[in-house]
Amino acid sequence: MAPRPRVPLAVLPTPITDAVRLREALGGSSRCPRILIKRDDLTGLGLGGNKARKLEYLVADALAAGAHTLITTGAVQSNHARMTAAAARIAGLRCILVLTAHSDAPALEGNFLLDHLFGAEIRLVPSTDPMLAVGDDAPVVAQAVADEQAAGRVPYVIPVGGSSPVGTLGYVQGTAELVEQLTALQVAPSRLYYASGSRGTQAGLTLGAKLSGAPYRLWGVAVSAGEPEKIERARRAANDAAALLGVDTRVTHDDLFTDQGFIGDGYGIPTAEGLAAIELLAQTEAILLDPCYTSKGCAALLRHVRQGAIAPDDTVVFLHTGGAPALFTAGYLRQRAVRA
Ligand SMILES: *Cc1c(COP(=O)(O)O)cnc(C)c1O
Repeated sequence: MAPRPRVPLAVLPTPITDAVRLREALGGSSRCPRILIKRDDLTGLGLGGNKARKLEYLVADALAAGAHTLITTGAVQSNHARMTAAAARIAGLRCILVLTAHSDAPALEGNFLLDHLFGAEIRLVPSTDPMLAVGDDAPVVAQAVADEQAAGRVPYVIPVGGSSPVGTLGYVQGTAELVEQLTALQVAPSRLYYASGSRGTQAGLTLGAKLSGAPYRLWGVAVSAGEPEKIERARRAANDAAALLGVDTRVTHDDLFTDQGFIGDGYGIPTAEGLAAIELLAQTEAILLDPCYTSKGCAALLRHVRQGAIAPDDTVVFLHTGGAPALFTAGYLRQRAVRA
C-alpha cells in the first residue's frame, strides 16, 4: 500500500472502552452483548470527532497543492465545518465556511460559536426548506473560490463532510487502528454500529474492513435520506481511495448497507429514541452523544439489543463519531423538553 501524506491533527490512537455500566443497564451479560465503544469523539481537534481523521489527509493534500485557504460547506451546526476551521488554524491556513441556515443571524451557539472562535470567515446560505438545512451553496462556494484567486491566494475546496477520496483515507487508517486494538483485546465483534451522513466514513470503513480483514459486519445507521445517490457517492469515494493507495481491492453497492430505520423526520431533527439514547449513555457511561448523528446510531444498537437481535455472548462495537458541541444549543434543549 502506497503511504499517503498526512498532517498530524488528531490524538491517536483513540481509546476503546468496555461499556460495562451500559451493559448492566440493558440487562447484564445474560441479555446484552459486550459493547465496546471506539472513542473517536476524543480525537481532540477543536473538541474532536470523526472529521479529524479525514482532515489529516485533506490538509496534507491542501498543503501539497500550495493552498492558502480551506473552503468547505455544511449546515450551520456542522461538526465538519467546526473541525475544518480548527485544522486550518493548526496548518496556518485561512478558512471560509459556507453554511446553510434558516436565519441570516443564527444563534451564536454550539459549533457555530466555535467557528467564530477559530476565526473562520463565514458566508451564510438561506435554507430552502422550513425544517431541514438545505440550500444552494454551490454559487457561494464558487464566489469564495473566485474571491481568493482574485486576492492572489490558492483555495482548496473540501466537499461536504470531507467525504472526498482523500478524506476517505482517514477511516481506512482508522480501521487499521481499530483492528489492531481488537486483536490486542482478542475479541472479534459481530457488528460495528456507526452514524452515516455524507458517507466518507462509510467509504473508509468499508474499504478499510476489506484491507484489514475486519471481523465485524458494518452497521451504518443513516441520519438523512437520499440513499441511492449516497451509496453511489460512497462507492466512488472508496474505489478512488483504493486507487490512491495503489491497491486492487474494490467496493461494490452490495458492500454498502445502511439501516434506514432511524432517520426520523430528517437530517438534524432529533428522534425520541435518539434523545433517550443521549440520556442513557450520559447516565451510565458519562459519554456524550449528539442529537444529529450519534444518538441515532446508538439508538439502532440499543433497539437491537432490547429486541434480542444480537446474542449476549457476542461483542459489538459502537464507533462514537463525536458531535457533542451541538448539545450546547437552544434547539437541542427545546427538543429534549418536548420529546424526552
Ligand atoms: C459527520 C459526522 C458523522 C457522519 O460521517 P460521514 O462521513 O459524513 O458519513 C457522524 N457523526 C458525527 C458526529 C459527524 O459529525
